[in-house]
Amino acid sequence: MLEIDGSYGEGGGQILRTALSLSCLLRRPCRIVNIRRARKKPGLMPQHLACVRLLTLISNAKVSGTDVGSTEMTFEPGEPVSGDYFFDIGTAGSTSLLLQAVLPPLVFARGPSRITLVGGTHVPFSPPYHFISEIFLPMLGRLGVVVSSSIERHGFYPRGGGKISITLQPCSKVKAISLEERGDIVSVTGISAVGNLPASIAERQRNAAEAVLAGIPARPEISMKTVMVDSYSPGTFVFLKAESRCTSGFSSLGEQGKRAEAVGEEAARELVRHLETGACIDSHLADQLVIYLCLAGGASKFTTSRISGHLMTNLWVIRQFLDISCKVEGELGKPGRVAIIP
Ligand code: ATP
Repeated sequence: MLEIDGSYGEGGGQILRTALSLSCLLRRPCRIVNIRRARKKPGLMPQHLACVRLLTLISNAKVSGTDVGSTEMTFEPGEPVSGDYFFDIGTAGSTSLLLQAVLPPLVFARGPSRITLVGGTHVPFSPPYHFISEIFLPMLGRLGVVVSSSIERHGFYPRGGGKISITLQPCSKVKAISLEERGDIVSVTGISAVGNLPASIAERQRNAAEAVLAGIPARPEISMKTVMVDSYSPGTFVFLKAESRCTSGFSSLGEQGKRAEAVGEEAARELVRHLETGACIDSHLADQLVIYLCLAGGASKFTTSRISGHLMTNLWVIRQFLDISCKVEGELGKPGRVAIIP
């Protein structure tokens, strides 16, 4: 059985998600040890168990060691079966991270699938739903994966309860990409949202973001709107999208004690920092994308605004399962160039 060391590199939940996802897709049993060793509370937490449970359901897997806090588990999948799946995480655990784990096996399964997830949609340390719908899924579309999404309710910490749905068509071959020259930024669009809080907060967030964006030297068209969303817990966020030859996404979340202006400025500054590097792919998309590029029908290359620990760790996990070659040029934390030859 393939053994994966969960303490490698980032030593977080991403190792578990990528390993289980590839194990399921390739029908290759694995044992994961030292799960989330680098985290303050190591081992499986409820949001990681949600991944284990949903992948177990999809592939009728045999599993062991799947209690909360467990630092070692085994996963022996059967064939992933496409279909209609509903899963309630039960907490504000991230629906997008769960999606990260279950999409690859379902994309390559025999038929179409529809996945409905309930949990957090805009929660810390994970892609907000809008990053999934506006950045990640459209990029999968460029790779030839036909997939769409919708959100019925937003889920903020602590109650979660957000509801999203994804539908996808099976895909037998993913296309490679070559995205090295970004080209001019054509537009920046975005939303400033509040759930269960006054609209004035969304306006303050938007105004602060726009003030930062006004300083972009290329002077792209900028349009931001404010929205009031349906949610159980109160929450706020800003999501910005920069369009050129490639599309990048940046976000920030409100929290108690954080000024609305700080929320708006945070996402906008991240966008500005990305633009200054001249790279195509933002650092979050980079680590989320590579699993698909490693399964593509040809060689891919792209530039990214930051070589992250998540990117390097994810490439390492993927290489434990697949015989691929990848070359990363650039220092950790700095802009760089990635080449992947499946
Ligand atoms: P854990 O902390 O549970 O051990 P982990 O280390 O894998 O798990 P994170 O470091 O929080 O989790 O990151 C998980 C994923 O979320 C990565 O793919 C990262 O790119 C993505 N991510 C985090 N923040 C954002 C964001 N603001 N926008 C888009 N993606 C994000």
